[in-house]
Amino acid sequence: MQDEIRKMYYSVPCLENIPFILHGFGSRYFNEQLLCKNIQGKKLKCTFLDQIHTDIIHAVTELPDKNWKGDALLTDRPGILLVVRTADCLPVLLVDKKKKVVAAVHCGWRGTKKKLAAKAAEAMSALYKCERSSLLAALGPCIEQDCYEVREEVRESFKDAGIRDDFFLSSSAKTGSYYFDLKQANRYQLLKAGLKPENIFSVDLCTYCEESLFSYRRDGFKAGRMVNFIGMLY
Ligand SMILES: [Zn+2]
Repeated sequence: MQDEIRKMYYSVPCLENIPFILHGFGSRYFNEQLLCKNIQGKKLKCTFLDQIHTDIIHAVTELPDKNWKGDALLTDRPGILLVVRTADCLPVLLVDKKKKVVAAVHCGWRGTKKKLAAKAAEAMSALYKCERSSLLAALGPCIEQDCYEVREEVRESFKDAGIRDDFFLSSSAKTGSYYFDLKQANRYQLLKAGLKPENIFSVDLCTYCEESLFSYRRDGFKAGRMVNFIGMLY
């Protein structure tokens, strides 16, 4: 019976166990309205982004009048829920439970090429004196390597940017075609930024394979967006 209940969002136990943190990676059965309903009575307000595949990071101290443009949000304020939307891209949530700082990051291949997840972790230490070795990271569902075929130019652009390109696997069937491991590339960048392997958690579901998730690659322009969120309660 339990299995028949549609899962609204996924979470990782390590963050689930922190009493003042609220987080989740939405499925297709979850949306902004349900998120608002979910947080009713919790004194939380949502901050959304107009995501543009950049390395622009916003530190949120109060709610903006309109959505900012960018791809990562940080806050040390309770009561602010940071939201990033994805459909194949990787959502990354970061937590410093001692300093009480959280971040939500949207990482597609462009953001990954700009090392956005690592930059968000660095911004947490620069702005809030977070120790990177004690940061917790949760990586949400994204398109997995077997399903994420990219053109040669994408791999080339990583090389040109001086980024390791060994997360690209050459296709045996098609020349000039590669399979990109978006999740591992970001995990590697977080480790390079000083996070400990035992502090990086993941929801290992492929958006392309998993019917309950939205996939831009599978559903095209009609694809919805998953709502991923993190915030701190008062
Ligand atoms: Zn897949």
